[in-house]
Amino acid sequence: MFKKILIANRGEIACRVIKTAKKMGIATVAVYSDADKDALHVQMADEAVHIGPPPSAQSYLIAERIVEACKKTGAEAVHPGYGFLSEKREFQEALAAAGIVFIGPGAHAIFAMGDKIESKKLANAAGVNTVPGFMGVIKDAEEAVTIARQVGYPVMIKASAGGGGKGMRLARNDQEAREGFVSATNEAKSSFADDRVFVEKYIEQPRHIEIQVLGDSFGNVIYLGERECSIQRRHQKVIEEAPSPFLTEAVRKAMGEQAVALAKAVDYKSAGTVEFIVDAQRNFFFLEMNTRLQVEHPVTELITGLDLVEWMIRIAAGEALTIQQKDVKLHGWAVEARVYAEDPFRNFLPSIGRLTRYIPPAEGPNVRVDTGVYEGGEISMFYDPMIAKLCAYGPVRELAITHMRQALDEYFIRGLSHNIPFLAALMAHPRFVRGELTTNFIAEEYPHGFHAEDLPVPSPALLVAVAAFVHRKHVERETSLSGQLPGHEVKPADAWVVQFGGNSYPIVLAPIAGGYSVELDGATLSVTSDWGIGQPLFRGVVNDGNDHHLVVQVDRQNIGYRLFHGGSRVDAVVLSQRASELAALMPKKAPPDLSKYLLSPMPGLLVSLAIAEGQEIKAGEVLAVVEAMKMENILRAARDGIVGKLHAKPGDSLAVDQKIVEFV
Ligand code: ADP
Repeated sequence: MFKKILIANRGEIACRVIKTAKKMGIATVAVYSDADKDALHVQMADEAVHIGPPPSAQSYLIAERIVEACKKTGAEAVHPGYGFLSEKREFQEALAAAGIVFIGPGAHAIFAMGDKIESKKLANAAGVNTVPGFMGVIKDAEEAVTIARQVGYPVMIKASAGGGGKGMRLARNDQEAREGFVSATNEAKSSFADDRVFVEKYIEQPRHIEIQVLGDSFGNVIYLGERECSIQRRHQKVIEEAPSPFLTEAVRKAMGEQAVALAKAVDYKSAGTVEFIVDAQRNFFFLEMNTRLQVEHPVTELITGLDLVEWMIRIAAGEALTIQQKDVKLHGWAVEARVYAEDPFRNFLPSIGRLTRYIPPAEGPNVRVDTGVYEGGEISMFYDPMIAKLCAYGPVRELAITHMRQALDEYFIRGLSHNIPFLAALMAHPRFVRGELTTNFIAEEYPHGFHAEDLPVPSPALLVAVAAFVHRKHVERETSLSGQLPGHEVKPADAWVVQFGGNSYPIVLAPIAGGYSVELDGATLSVTSDWGIGQPLFRGVVNDGNDHHLVVQVDRQNIGYRLFHGGSRVDAVVLSQRASELAALMPKKAPPDLSKYLLSPMPGLLVSLAIAEGQEIKAGEVLAVVEAMKMENILRAARDGIVGKLHAKPGDSLAVDQKIVEFV
């Protein structure tokens, strides 16, 4: 076994690999860019080597830097994680030349599977079902139309070098095929420096279901069940689960066996994933093989009890698999949610900055948190803005979801926007709970984006009780601090009005064992908790006839409280009867009118402006293109109008909400 390995990655996956290496008694070397000198993976590793400036092209993506770091520290092997150099054949060859072991499959497997056109041909030859289509490179937009007609609309236009959902366009007619060809080609060129695209049939009501395989150097290959990753936004996975609520035992076996056949066809020796797209009749078609550890591998680990990273390391060190197919048993259900620093209410714009407070839920048998950040740390603009992968486990799907909802309630993040409200809404969505998934789930259920109204409505009575409890604790402290002169003792009042969401809830509070009773609307609730002032999480039981075990995040805000629960945010104020009457008379400040501006929805680069001053524009017309995180975002006119002033020019770096265009 290796004595020391280097992890050529950052963030949660670097931390994840380091954990297993530690467990195996292997020393670890981290690498880091200037932006990551204080990062968690650097702190966790036994040694760390600086490899360059923040942009990954100048640090994490330079194979020679990694090879040098290995030589310098004596690391015998490298785990590449996912992304970065994990599927770069040149990297593997550079390591081999230096006598360093790559913890992953052979170069030929990566090469064969790295290209969507080539891998599809190979899969076909290995007897794996592939999506019907044209397996050649498309020359131009007109050829795209011709082929698309032959394949039959709808079609998917895809970059052969594609990954991470980039360079992919759905086309339902000739015009979309033409446009899709151009935009897929451009995106492929800028993201992968390879503009080859091909066309395949678009599978309707598709589900994304993938098979985890594990192979060793002795020709043994097994499959470890499937993961369903149908909940996607812009072809990027948001929620993954294992097993899939859709597969039958027979289909699972058929998919598993095809995945193994493909892995064997390329002498696969490591952990790998064969991705399939599955239609409503459970026909499945090969999409691609990922020759590396997947982001979502933890859900497989949770239901199989296997440590995939440990197996990758053991196989790379020359060990044979000691588990056979018949030993693989799937137990229970696991769900993973990708927690991102992005603003779900603003079209999921990346939100970079410092985590001023960061308290993940406690890990245990039902909760796993894979993270690479810590309180006070920074989510930088240079990398994927992932905060963590949150996994929940349960004996059955329903319980796994319940545990996930509770863990999301507990996840305390301040300092930047995050997608927990969106994740909470998904977990509470009846269609998700029923397991009726397709890759269009998010687009269908949130056709106009995600809004506060899409959140599950928290029961007002429960939050009134929590707000009352929290406020009463504050008042008790204030009265006890305000000098209790004999004869002038101040007693907290019992009658209050709780205000939130534009409503007023008059209540009467009375102490009971462990909490208070709350009279509201003629009913009496009880709220008990050991919550104390300053604690970010209120955990307690509100009883309205039934016990509700609640976790509510509590922020003090001026005279009120900001409560977070079920993804919702509620600003509550608790006032005396008189103060509440006076508050109703206070003037309200109207927000400024921004409708006559086109604002940059994200920090990014203004690539182009499609309009000139004085030009008349129609709703839906393209105004500008802003590039952020390697994605081109087309900004269109919300309504008809006339362009007044241009406030920015192509090439400008834009801050979020910066003015680009002013309309007349
Ligand atoms: P990437 O390598 O960029 O992740 P994939 O080929 O794995 O690209 O596809 C990503 C997602 O795009 C799939 O999970 C699926 O949602 C969708 N997709 C890809 N090809 C098709 C297709 N032919 N029909 C329907 N959806 C597709």
